[in-house]
Amino acid sequence: IDRIHRRKVSGDKFFSLEFFPPRTGAGAGNLISRFERMNQGKPLFCDMTWHPAGDPSNTEKPTSSTCIAGTMLNYCGIETMLHMTCARQTKEEVIANLYKAKDLGIRNLLALRGDPPDGAEKWTMSETGMNYATDLVRLIKEEFDDYFVICVAGYPQGHPECSSYDDDIQRLKEKVDAGADFVITQLFFDADVFLKYLKDCRAAGINCPILPGILPIQGYQSLRHIVKLSKLEVPQEIIDAINPIKENDEAIRNFGIDQAVQMCKTLLNASADDADVNIPGVHFYTLNREVASIEVLKRLGLWQEEILRPLPWKQTANAARCK
Ligand code: FAD
Repeated sequence: IDRIHRRKVSGDKFFSLEFFPPRTGAGAGNLISRFERMNQGKPLFCDMTWHPAGDPSNTEKPTSSTCIAGTMLNYCGIETMLHMTCARQTKEEVIANLYKAKDLGIRNLLALRGDPPDGAEKWTMSETGMNYATDLVRLIKEEFDDYFVICVAGYPQGHPECSSYDDDIQRLKEKVDAGADFVITQLFFDADVFLKYLKDCRAAGINCPILPGILPIQGYQSLRHIVKLSKLEVPQEIIDAINPIKENDEAIRNFGIDQAVQMCKTLLNASADDADVNIPGVHFYTLNREVASIEVLKRLGLWQEEILRPLPWKQTANAARCK
């Protein structure tokens, strides 16, 4: 969090990258290589999603896939943040997961409630006392004091279950007041939606860094899937642009890259134009793919890969003799 604040003060922008845990041994090998390549661009941190018990994509024990993948990131020397949900777990189970994360050397957590079980639309109050992400933030503070940097989720279009947009912002404030250090938002496709949200959060007294969550659109089916899962609205102009090219993966990917570059530029320029709109960096949902995110970051000038050069002491005369 200090590094986020330092960048905020210096005006340097950063990026961070989200991954999900691999499902197979071969997938783990591929992901390690990908981490190493993506680390060349110098992300501020990378984070690993959490797949709770009952999630069909989680064939391992509830927590191990995320913890193993988080350890892989740490192994690559990347500042790592683990996502952790508290829904459908007892307090004791959650505490055990937190100690496991600590034992693995994790210092950063994205504290989440998680979705209602079995695709249910509404949340039913749990007897475990773990009903909202605020409960998890409080538990982390009670058990670990300031050991972990805590991130929480924000929803620029309102969380799908919330009673109102304003109430959802108050719920975010409760998470921050309980001890969260910064916020990453749900993805969105319109910079103005984020900029309004940021202003509304500030007006509500939420003063910590709020990082916009960016998804470069990478394919028609994956977009449909994510939008359905997250119950998001896609602007009509994006739907109109994508429909005629939906069978052409490359065209969709190029469109997604252009759209993400434009949106990030608007966000970062807004931040430069108005001191009250401080957006210290952008957070990318990579979907475990690298091409689109790297291209967007390069076009934004945020990818900081150093080109390997020979040592700088070679003298011209020597160079001539060497020929
Ligand atoms: P909360 O902040 O608890 O909010 C949930 C709902 O309850 C909201 O509608 C809120 O307004 C309302 N609410 C909060 N407090 C109260 C209260 N006291 N009284 C009444 N209502 C209240 N899911 C995963 O399973 N794994 C992941 O790795 C994962 N990563 C994510 C990363 C990001 C950046 C985001 C934005 C989401 C992620 N999710 C993940 C999805 C998330 O688990 C779901 O959106 C979930 O439904 C809500 O989690 P939350 O932490 O935002 O919940």
